[in-house]
Amino acid sequence: MRDLEKVLNKKKINKRELLELLNLSSTPEIKKLYQAAYRTKLKYVGNTVYFRGLIELSNLCTKNCYYCGIRKSNTKNERYTLEKKEVLTLAKWANDNDYGSIVLQAGERQDKKYTAFITELIRQIKKKTHDKLGITLSLGEQSAATYKKWFAAGAHRYLLRIETSSPKLYKKLHPADHSFHKRVNCLRTLKKIGYQVGTGVMIGLPGQTIANLVKDILFFKKLDIDMIGMGPYIPHADTPLFHAPQLFDKKDRLELGLKMIAVTRLYLKDINIASTTALQTLHNLGRELGLQAGANIIMPNLTPREQRKKYLLYEGKPCLDDSQEFCKKCLGQRIKKIGEKIGYGQWGDSPHFKKKKI
Ligand code: SAH
Ligand code: SF4
Repeated sequence: MRDLEKVLNKKKINKRELLELLNLSSTPEIKKLYQAAYRTKLKYVGNTVYFRGLIELSNLCTKNCYYCGIRKSNTKNERYTLEKKEVLTLAKWANDNDYGSIVLQAGERQDKKYTAFITELIRQIKKKTHDKLGITLSLGEQSAATYKKWFAAGAHRYLLRIETSSPKLYKKLHPADHSFHKRVNCLRTLKKIGYQVGTGVMIGLPGQTIANLVKDILFFKKLDIDMIGMGPYIPHADTPLFHAPQLFDKKDRLELGLKMIAVTRLYLKDINIASTTALQTLHNLGRELGLQAGANIIMPNLTPREQRKKYLLYEGKPCLDDSQEFCKKCLGQRIKKIGEKIGYGQWGDSPHFKKKKI
């Protein structure tokens, strides 16, 4: 690429340059991109990795996204919902092990019994950990009233991926009753309520172009997003999208996933970016590579092993048989090996969000 060094050192990269960076194909140039993103990360968020202990609360889902292994119509899935007591024990473990915060994630349900269960759960987690443990929710689209209740109960971050910022592609990935605009409105509502808001996309989807990915990054900026959780799309055999022609192979999807992290870091600078488990599905060192390309958040899985195997959004999810203790030790070693620190006992809020509050 012409002027690569110059572009990598620019304060504000333009749209054409975003496209050129995502299209980089020579190994030395891609390496330069990752190095520049890493420098930006050090400058704006530092080399501390924050943990979010992931609790996959339930694989029951009322929706039918074409790419997802726990979609409602996948009858091969044995369904579960963790008991309140189990979740409280996991949250306590996270707190005792200085994880700083947890993420409660599940398929989407909007019935009253369920939303009330979540409200109570958030309240009790906060009480049990004396307000110390931060709570991020990733529970899909809900009414403003529900989001408000959960916020009042003590959750302070919410992750809702837009999946793709192209309404046209969104339509191809979801049944007719799933709405792109509703999802965008949810993101706006969450922000208004006061949550730190995270979004993200899947990378390497059938029908997705590099130009789509550029627009995704511009979408993150336009919505003034505080955190990003994005990762490669990984096909699941029991989903309709599995049969769609694949534009990207495994290697491309891994590389594109890392390039997206790097370019997003260069463009948005002071936000939190997760190095997602999907990266590790494609490469044993995927999550470390994500950190080295500009990510600063890791979500160690806390879900009990028995249920973890049933929460298969995609195939080949790693660490299915590892205990919480093992994951903690293993991740600790992996992070140390690449010269980074772990922000034990801290919420690790996005500097971008903190700045807005001042
Ligand atoms: N039901 C909630 C949260 C659980 S799904 C929601 O949809 O927001 C969490 C994320 O898993 C989704 O946002 C999607 O981006 C990701 N996901 C689902 N299927 C996937 C697949 N096949 N490959 C990669 N990521 C996938
Ligand atoms: Fe349900 Fe989320 Fe999977 Fe869609 S992506 S089917 S909402 S769990």
